[in-house]
Amino acid sequence: MLILVLNAGSSSLKASVMDATSGEVHFEMNGNRLLDAPELTFSDGTEIHLQQKGHEEALRAGLTKLKELCSHLDLAGTGHRVVHGGETFDCPARITDKVEQKIEALSDLAPLHNPINLEGIRMARRFFPDIPHFAVFDTSYHHSLPRRARTYALPRALAEEYGIRRYGFHGISHKYVAGRAATFLKDDYRNLRLISCHLGNGCSVAAIEFGRSIETSMGMTPLEGLVMGTRSGDLDPGILTMLAQKADLSAARIDEILNRESGLKGLSGSNDMRDVLVRSTGGDEGAQLALQIFTHRLRKYIGAYTAVMGGVDAIIFTGGVGENSSIVRHRAAQRLDYLGAIIDEDRNQSLQLTTGEDVIAFNRPHSRVKLLAIRTDEQFAIAKACGKLIDEENKVNRLPSIPVAVSARHCHLTRATLDQLFGVGHELTVKKWLSQPGQFAANETVTVIGPKNQLERVRILGPLRSVDQVEISRTDEFFLGIDAPVRESGKVDNTPGCRLVGPSGHVDLENGLICAWRHIHMTPDDASRFGVADRDVVEVAIRNDERGLTFGNVLVRVSPDYLLEMHIDTDEGNAAEITPGDTGALMHSSAEGQLKRKAVSFY
Ligand code: ADP
Repeated sequence: MLILVLNAGSSSLKASVMDATSGEVHFEMNGNRLLDAPELTFSDGTEIHLQQKGHEEALRAGLTKLKELCSHLDLAGTGHRVVHGGETFDCPARITDKVEQKIEALSDLAPLHNPINLEGIRMARRFFPDIPHFAVFDTSYHHSLPRRARTYALPRALAEEYGIRRYGFHGISHKYVAGRAATFLKDDYRNLRLISCHLGNGCSVAAIEFGRSIETSMGMTPLEGLVMGTRSGDLDPGILTMLAQKADLSAARIDEILNRESGLKGLSGSNDMRDVLVRSTGGDEGAQLALQIFTHRLRKYIGAYTAVMGGVDAIIFTGGVGENSSIVRHRAAQRLDYLGAIIDEDRNQSLQLTTGEDVIAFNRPHSRVKLLAIRTDEQFAIAKACGKLIDEENKVNRLPSIPVAVSARHCHLTRATLDQLFGVGHELTVKKWLSQPGQFAANETVTVIGPKNQLERVRILGPLRSVDQVEISRTDEFFLGIDAPVRESGKVDNTPGCRLVGPSGHVDLENGLICAWRHIHMTPDDASRFGVADRDVVEVAIRNDERGLTFGNVLVRVSPDYLLEMHIDTDEGNAAEITPGDTGALMHSSAEGQLKRKAVSFY
C-alpha cells in the first residue's frame, strides 16, 4: 500500500512515497530554505529553485512534481505530519473539513507549525482530491501523560482558560523507536520501561512505562526541556519577566530569542552539533560549555525519568545527534552504573546505524539496562499509521456501518391511558414519521410527574401499544427522583410508576418507567451479515471526526420490520458527542460472553 507522506515544517518541506508495510521508499523530495531561497530536490535528480519565497509557492511546485512522479503509481492515501493535536486528537485522524477546522483552532498553541501544516494539507487535498488524507500528530502519543505530569502548578482557572498544560511533542518518533526497541529486545513493549531521547534540531526525552508515555520534557510548546539547536529548553520563568522589565524586550522578541537564538547556537554560535563537536575538540571554550550543558541536562532527565518509573529497562538514543554522536551518547550514558546501565565504550564509538541495521545496543553484556542507538523514521511511522487506518476502514466498509440515533425521552401508551389523558376515542396525530417503519412521533405530549420534579412535554410515540411505558435518561431519573432500571422495551415488570398528565386528566401508572437499554434494530439479513442473533449483547465503536468511544452492553433486536439503527439516550449521545450522520461499527460478543473484535474503526 503506497502512501505519500508530507511533512510541511516551518522552514523545510519533506515528502516521500513509500510502502506502508515495508517502508520501501519509491521517491523523496527535500525542500529547504523556504523562507529565503527555496530549493526543492527530488530523488530522481530534479532540482527546482524558486524565485518566490514562502511555503505556498514551494508547496505548489513540490506537489506538481510529486503528482507527475505519482502518475503511474496507485497511491492509497496521504499522511500529513501535524505538530499540535491539542486535547482533541489522541490518535491519527482522517482529514475532513471539520478536522481542518479543529487543527486551525489549535494554531494558537503552535503558531509556528499548525498553520503551515494546514497549508500543506489544504494544498495536497486539492492536488490529490481522490485519495484519503490523514493527519498524524506529534502530540497524540503523550495523551497518556497522567494529570500530575501534564499539569503546571499555575492557578487552575488561568490554565484552563488558555489551555496551559504539558502536551509533549516528537510523539511519532518516541512511539516508533519504542516499538523498534521492543522488537529488538524480543519483548512486548507493554512489558518495558523505556527512556527515549530524541536528539535532533529539537530535542526531547520521554518516559515510556509499559507502552504509555507518562512523562516528557517538552511542554505546552516545544520550547521546554532539553537544550536544543536554537531553543533554550528549561529556564527559570523569572528570567522572562526580568528580560521584559529590565531589558525592555517585547514578548515577540523574547520568543524569538528563546526559540531561535538560544540553545547550542546561543552558547557556541552554531546550532549544529557537528560544528560544536569539532570546535570543542579544537579548544573552543563556548563549544565545550555548550556540549557540557547539553549532555548534563540530558543526564539529569535520564536520572529523573528513571526515578519516575522506579527503574528502566532500556535507554534509547535517536534523532540526528542521538544516532550519530558517540560523544553525546558517551557523556549522557557514562557512570549510569548506579541505575544498572553499563556502557560499552568501544561499541559506542564504532556503531554505525544503517537502514539494514537500525537498532544497535552499546551496553556491556552484563548490563541490566540496555543502551540502544535507534534510527528513527518518522516518515515511515506516518505511512504505517495511515496504512493501518486504511486497512481498518476497508475492513469496516465490508460490513454495514450502523447509523446512530439519539432518542429523546418519550412514552408509549395504551388505548385506555390515551383515552383518560386526551378524551375517549382520541387518535394520535403524526408529527414526524420515525426511521423504524410504521412508528411516528405524535403531536401529543404529556407531563411526567415524579416525587421530586416533573418533566413537561414528553412526546408520545405511536402507534398505541398493549403496555404503557415511559423511557427516560439517567439525568431525567435524578431530576424526577426515581430510580428506574435499564430495561429492554416492553419489559416493565417490577419497574417504578409515575403520574402522567394530559389535557383531559391524569393516570397514575403502577409501573412502566424505564431507562431504555441501548440497542440496535436490525433485519434478519443484517443479523446474518454481522453474525449475531436477536438478544445478543455486543459492543459498538462510535467514531466521529475527532474522538472514538465504545459502547459496551448493546442489545441486538432483530425483526423483519426493523431498519438498521442503533438507539441511545440523550445522556449517552451527549457523552459520545453524537451528531447527525455518525455511525457505529459492531464489535462482536459471542454467546459465551467472550469479546471478539470484529471491526473497530471507521469514519
Ligand atoms: P530534525 O530535528 O530537524 O529532524 P535531525 O534529527 O535530522 O533533525 O537532526 C539534525 C541534527 O543532527 C543536526 O542539526 C546536527 O546537529 C545533528 N547531527 C547530524 N549528524 C551528526 C553527527 N555525525 N554528529 C553529531 N551531530 C550530528
